[in-house]
Amino acid sequence: MTKDADFSLVVDVLQDIFGEPHNHNDYRGQISFDCPVCSDMKGLDDGDGKGNLEINYMNYVYKCWSCAETENTKGHLNKLVRKYASPRQYKQFTLYTPEDFVKVVDKRDTIVRLPYEFVEFSKSSEGRQMTHKFREAFNYLKSRNITKEMIIKHRMGYCDSGPYENRIIIPSYDNKGYVNFFVARSFLSWTRMKYKNPQADKDSLIWNEHMVDWTKPVYLVEGVFDGLRARRRLSTLAATLALCGCSHSLASHYWHTVSATPQRPLRHTHTHMNT
Ligand SMILES: [Zn+2]
Repeated sequence: MTKDADFSLVVDVLQDIFGEPHNHNDYRGQISFDCPVCSDMKGLDDGDGKGNLEINYMNYVYKCWSCAETENTKGHLNKLVRKYASPRQYKQFTLYTPEDFVKVVDKRDTIVRLPYEFVEFSKSSEGRQMTHKFREAFNYLKSRNITKEMIIKHRMGYCDSGPYENRIIIPSYDNKGYVNFFVARSFLSWTRMKYKNPQADKDSLIWNEHMVDWTKPVYLVEGVFDGLRARRRLSTLAATLALCGCSHSLASHYWHTVSATPQRPLRHTHTHMNT
């Protein structure tokens, strides 16, 4: 993939079609707009002001954080543009998209972003801290022996509305500080679905890589709460932890990567998934 390809004209066309962007990260090629499907459902011609339509023009995909599942507002970017662009805009769009990008699309068909309704615990207002949901969420973490320090360090939060309502959100950041995954655990005592995690390319994901010191022994666990507990237990040994809340193929990848360098011992702690 050519990192130096110029996407500025593509961005211009997207803005021409979808209006003012809410957020734009040109390093990642990620830009958000008001979702035309959501706006249409609400009868709002000028957008609903939510910015839920996320487009990654480098990976050539899009997704609406609100209506992707119900309206199938997700997938190959071409599908979206063809539907909403005028013939002139569509022509420009195909003309300006660097050719080699269009061919490699299907490998990365997911975008990860924290939910729109995400609120970080440590950045909550005093008013919010008084709410029932805040206390319920906070008490849930306490009951799982998650300390205040861990909550701050891992930038944990929760959602009190939206598709991740009543869930603790534990984000994972990559080396550059961008969110690459999150775990959304219900904090209600009864729930149909304990976890509701985003789709992501889990094979290339390393959980909170900026916290992993690859020169130290690496412990593998499955499930984010195992990881948090283990990290605390191991802190006195100055050991670090690579945590994967995901697949066995990833575990074997770690195993392979780490054991390839014999001076770095690997200890494999196998615990329950998604506790
Ligand atoms: Zn939508």
